[in-house]
Amino acid sequence: MLCVACHALLVALQIFWGIRITADLSMRTFPRFRAQRRNLMLGALASSFVPFSQALAGLTTYPELRLKLYNLHTTETIDTVFWQEGQYNLDALAQLSYLLRDHRTGAVKTMDARLFSLLYLVNTKLNNKNTVSVISGYRSAETNRKLATRNSGVASNSYHIKGRAIDIRIPGKDTKNLRDVGLKLRVGGVGYYERSNFAHFDTGPYRHW
Ligand SMILES: [Zn+2]
Repeated sequence: MLCVACHALLVALQIFWGIRITADLSMRTFPRFRAQRRNLMLGALASSFVPFSQALAGLTTYPELRLKLYNLHTTETIDTVFWQEGQYNLDALAQLSYLLRDHRTGAVKTMDARLFSLLYLVNTKLNNKNTVSVISGYRSAETNRKLATRNSGVASNSYHIKGRAIDIRIPGKDTKNLRDVGLKLRVGGVGYYERSNFAHFDTGPYRHW
């Protein structure tokens, strides 16, 4: 159950922003997920209110937004509706954040909800119905430091550390097309890693590499 203060905060924000929030506390997808769920949900609530782009704002009129992700490192999958009837489903956002945790350390961070909206938009533009394969989501500073020393393509101030980036490929789709969709959207950062066959998306300013 949400504590009284948390509940009051939710209600106040809902009134202030005119948005209702779904907090389905009955779902149990991952065994170690329950203890971290409340913090993840509150974090998701905060990130979901920050304006990002007009392209993503258009998605708020959709009846529902669904994502299917497969984490290549943990082999966990998720098929969830994270937006429905004009509101984010905080529990779904928390589950997505858990799936995208730093698999090397087990550290979990609330992912930027707008990243999921961006992924949905990319899927739509690609007409993709397949599950999206995740190479990397959240990276702790420790993990990012280790990767950066071994690989010049890893930025020391990566958006992965902020929970605002994801590296993906989509089975059956050309990763170059995936990158091109990101470039046309002109939303956030878009990276293309041809040799490793994945594309990077983040919710920072528009840029590409
Ligand atoms: Zn990346």
